[in-house]
Amino acid sequence: MEEERKITDSLVTYLEYFARSGVTHLPAGGGGRLSGEVESNVYSAGVGEKSVSDAAVDRASLLAAVQDELGDCRRCKLWEGRTNIVFGQGNPDAVLMFVGEGPGRDEDIQGFPFVGRAGQLLTKIIEAIDLTREDVYIGNIRKCRPPKNRDPEPDEVDSCMPFLMKQIEAIHPQIICTLGAVATRNLLGIKTPVSKIRGSFQRLDHAGGVMVMPTFHPAYLLRDPSKKRDAWEDMKKVRDIYKTFI
Ligand code: SF4
Repeated sequence: MEEERKITDSLVTYLEYFARSGVTHLPAGGGGRLSGEVESNVYSAGVGEKSVSDAAVDRASLLAAVQDELGDCRRCKLWEGRTNIVFGQGNPDAVLMFVGEGPGRDEDIQGFPFVGRAGQLLTKIIEAIDLTREDVYIGNIRKCRPPKNRDPEPDEVDSCMPFLMKQIEAIHPQIICTLGAVATRNLLGIKTPVSKIRGSFQRLDHAGGVMVMPTFHPAYLLRDPSKKRDAWEDMKKVRDIYKTFI
């Protein structure tokens, strides 16, 4: 009985650990598709008491290790004005990942991405392609809210992007949908306006190569609803490709 209680306590602690990392879904299993860098991060973070090979197939543990490494981050000046670091949220085994620019007021307060009005629209967009927020993973270029929601400055992107790239490496999505100009520009390393590049799959040479669909940011769609038709065309392409991966 005492042994069972200890196991239950350990399990609860383990699940709480993932919940703090924004993990909303634990995969039943997984395949190893990981680089030595991420694997060694898990090992050095001492996640659980697993062997390295066991940990390498556990994407939730990998994400938690990235979050541990981020810690109470003060790598750029944005830490001064934040309420919460918005690490990311969703399924660590997601085929589809959304990447936005960064937290706004609501996200800063709640600590989760896309929970304000734009987030509600993103939820509808996800549901329109027959998925739920629990199916996908949502992250951002930077994890702290800037003053007055201004665009990120280069040093902030340089400090924060490595953690997004590690999240991508841990999750290993097949498709990333970038939301808006800041996310598209910084993830792909291009200057092309999102209006010119949206609707065409790009390639991210990271984590073995990921298809990237740039589209409009939901906040932009709220400001200019006439662009929703274009965004829907983009999402239909994402839906069609998604089906080939499941
Ligand atoms: S924006 Fe990123 S790098 Fe800057 S303090 Fe926040 S978590 Fe750290």
